[in-house]
Amino acid sequence: MRFSSLFAVLFFVLFFVSLAAAVAQEGPGAKPLTAMPDVLTVPPEAQPSDHFDVEAATNAYMAEIPPAARARSDAYFEGGYWLILWDFLVAAIIYWALLRFGWSARMRDLTERLTRFRALQTFLYWVQFVLLTFVLGFPLTYYEGFVREHKYGLATQMFGPWMGDQLKLLLVSIVLGGIVVVTLVAIVRRLPNTWHIWGAVVSTVLLILFVMIAPVFLFPLFNKFKPLDDPKVTQPILSMARANGIAVGKVYVSDASQQSTRMSANVSGLGKTMRITLNDNLLKRANLEEIEEAMGHEMGHYVLNHVYKDMLFAFIVIVAGFGLLRWSLNWFVGRRGKEWGLRDATDIAAVPLVFLLGSIFFFVLTPILNTQTRTAELEADMYGLNASRQPDGSAQSAIHLGEYRKMSPGPVEEWIFYDHPSGRERIYNAMRWKAENLELFKKPAGK
Ligand SMILES: [Zn+2]
Repeated sequence: MRFSSLFAVLFFVLFFVSLAAAVAQEGPGAKPLTAMPDVLTVPPEAQPSDHFDVEAATNAYMAEIPPAARARSDAYFEGGYWLILWDFLVAAIIYWALLRFGWSARMRDLTERLTRFRALQTFLYWVQFVLLTFVLGFPLTYYEGFVREHKYGLATQMFGPWMGDQLKLLLVSIVLGGIVVVTLVAIVRRLPNTWHIWGAVVSTVLLILFVMIAPVFLFPLFNKFKPLDDPKVTQPILSMARANGIAVGKVYVSDASQQSTRMSANVSGLGKTMRITLNDNLLKRANLEEIEEAMGHEMGHYVLNHVYKDMLFAFIVIVAGFGLLRWSLNWFVGRRGKEWGLRDATDIAAVPLVFLLGSIFFFVLTPILNTQTRTAELEADMYGLNASRQPDGSAQSAIHLGEYRKMSPGPVEEWIFYDHPSGRERIYNAMRWKAENLELFKKPAGK
């Protein structure tokens, strides 16, 4: 949703690919403007005692954040709310323009002059569509992905490498998107009455395939991955992995500091390719307690089978989406098809209309999709606390992640916009866990 025109272009591809991972966020090293403090000592209110108070401990952690850092991070995150709207509007205007001014019909005519093979016509149309929407949407992509990220000190990439990544994304969307579009168009033409059912089934199968290959073939296009071998963390992390029944060969480190300062970790892949990745920003900037809690959280995603549950949820969304698409596509083609130069609903020139309807669908679904993700993230938080027993690491982690997420939203705001529990809620949950496990933190008598 934060990709403006790419959102357009990568509509299918990125939606598919990003569902693959529980979202791969990247980033490294220099002190960013939004930098949150490294809380080295546990505040007095959060120390174990007979009068430990969850609310007071939470507030003490919140008070560690300098007001300026908090104001900047609030501004960054709230700006993101508006970008969801602008991304949607800009994409919708681009698709509408392609239809209204007959550009889409002309792109189709061109492919028919170039070849008589229908699958090739579809692919050549797709290439033009991707390139044109990339160019038209580029100003917003550039502002959102480059200018704004630098303004808030979250990006580390110069323009050249950033543009290189954009071109790689473009190529990926041409190739993978091409596979999806050629397959779906063939289904629509061959099964005119049931394509919404078969389209949903085939899309889900392709999604599963893309999720499976993503960590092996896609992510390495943008970052380098190596097995975790940092002596500082190897022993406790791999020990925790073994204790939770996770094969130790499945923990990787990415060089996300090439792109940004964000600290993060994720679970990606499916079946044999499934793995836990932490990024080098987390390794460099976090203390061991925080890294352990972050890895406990990711192990939670892994052990609780969140990737498989996400797939099932995606299948439901895709089925609903195809049903609505079939109905609305016929309705629009019936009313406006002639004016836009569309022959019927199976015409490849209707692709911008499919994307327009799709972007409305996903825009409206924003709170539902976020709530599904946020619910799983809360489960992973709880698993992480139990596996790592690091509530203070969890509080520190919530503060660090507050560099790009507002710490303390209102309930409606959280419901609509948050794909993770808010920072304040995470600290509160960690302190509640600590309050119920105080004996783990009390120093032995006589010391
Ligand atoms: Zn998570």
